This record gives sequence, C-alpha cells and structure tokens, in this order.
Amino acid sequence: MSRKGGFSTTRKSSRSATIAKSCALFAPVASVADKAPLISLRNVTRHYKTGDRAVHALDGVSLEIARNEFVALSGASGCGKSTLIHLLAGLEHPTAGEIVVDGLALHTADDTALTDYRRRRLGLVFQFFNLLPTMNVLENVSFPLLLQGVAPQESEKRAAELIALVGLTDRATHFVHQLSGGEQQRTAIARALVHRPSLLIADEPTGNLDSQSAAAVMRLLEKIAAERLTTLIVATHSSEVAAAASRRVEMRDGKVVHDSASLSCS
Ligand code: ADP
Ligand code: MG
Repeated sequence: MSRKGGFSTTRKSSRSATIAKSCALFAPVASVADKAPLISLRNVTRHYKTGDRAVHALDGVSLEIARNEFVALSGASGCGKSTLIHLLAGLEHPTAGEIVVDGLALHTADDTALTDYRRRRLGLVFQFFNLLPTMNVLENVSFPLLLQGVAPQESEKRAAELIALVGLTDRATHFVHQLSGGEQQRTAIARALVHRPSLLIADEPTGNLDSQSAAAVMRLLEKIAAERLTTLIVATHSSEVAAAASRRVEMRDGKVVHDSASLSCS
C-alpha cells in the first residue's frame, strides 16, 4: 500500500528512538490479519425521522477497509460523514444493513458489547477535543486504561509513552486550559491511542484549529499511519489531510460516490 506524503522508506532507517519505542508499544500485526478487512459495511442505511420528513443520512453504503489503512472521508456538510462515524463507533444502530468491525457485528451487538468495543478496540477523536478539564494531560491520557482496570502505575507509564509520541512530554502536568487547541487535540489523540485500539476514528480533527496547529495534527496522523499503529478513518474537509491519507472515500447525499481504492463511482 502506498502512503502519500508519509515517511519515505529511505527515511525509515533514520527514524529515531521515538519510532522504535512506539513500535514496541504496539504488538506486530500478523500478515494474514493484515489482509482480511478490519471493517465491512454491507448496504448500510440510517434514516432519521423529523416530523413527517425522513432524512436518509446514509443510503446504501458498502465498504471494506483493511487493517492499517488511512482513510480520509470527505464530502460536503450534511453528506453523512458523522453518521457513518457514529455507526462505526457503535453509538447508533443502522436502520438496515450490516457493519462488522474486528469480527464484531455492530448492527446486532447489545449495549454491553458495544461499550466493551468502544472501551477496548476503538479510539475516538472529535473536533472539540472533549478532554476532562479537571485532569492534567497525563491523567486524561491514562484515563482509558484505568477504566479498563490497568494498574495506575502501568497506566501512567503507557500514557507517558503516548504523550512522548505526540510531542507533549513537557506539557504532561498541564491542565486543559493551559494548552493551545493543537496541544489539546494531540492530547486527545494520545488518549485515543493509549489502549492500542484496532481502529482510530477522527471526526473533523483539524476543523477547529488554526493552520499551524492543523498541520501539526496532520503530521501526527501521518506518523500514526506510517508506523502502522492502528487503522485510521478521518472525516475531513481538509484537502491536506485527504492528500496524506492512503485512501480517499468521498460521500454525497448519504452515498459513497468515489473511492480511490476501487477507482469506480457508484
Ligand atoms: P456530515 O457529518 O457529513 O456533515 P451528518 O452525518 O452529520 O453529515 O448528517 C447527515 C444528514 O443527517 C444531515 O442531513 C443531517 O441533518 C441529518 N441528521 C444527522 N443526525 C440527525 C439526527 N439525529 N436527527 C435527524 N437528522 C439527522
Ligand atoms: Mg459531521
């Protein structure tokens, strides 16, 4: 799989201790598992009723995404990107169709299974960071591990490694209000990765950032993809983020209208 805009293979050898360290953080993925789709959507629809009106937020979406792909999801506001993300996160059920992620059928899973899925296998990043203001960076990033029952000392150790990965070691004891928007988003990304999810989904992660912070977040996403730390799906209006992705999926009116992986339009 080619990765546009990422680290070139020649630069790989010069990648430093950070990379070796972060690679050690994540178990290597077997090559067979690498080829099986991590995500499979079959004819997925999501309709909302508002009064007499039915909104077809998703309208027959079928898609397969392999492990370690970096997929940019684009399209005009209202085309269904966030709806697709909510379904992939198990926050809502589809009206019809099938969604399987990492072997779990989300369309039939009960609330307990979906909570466990989000806690253990999924990382979520939103436009507005959603960090806990009463906690510092280290505590925010450790939190998902504590929820999983990981011991506090081990949680802090792993959180510190992720904080280093996102370049915020010198901000680890800072509270949310002491961080810039870009630093908050990088903290949110560290938090979303700390439990080694199979899938990281980000909904407009650069949408609320100035161009410099957005560029830093974009480089971080590229690094995560280049180091194959997880599978990435990023809903974005940013052409830079889309260009950095290994695959671009474009939506319109609840449908996938272009997929760079298939080079066909439906
Ligand atoms: P995007 O993220 O691409 O901007 P959304 O997935 O948020 O698009 O929205 C897709 C369509 O579904 C829009 O027309 C939106 O108004 C509608 N929609 C989203 N959520 C709801 C909801 N909870 N109730 C009614 N309509 C909704
Ligand atoms: Mg949206």
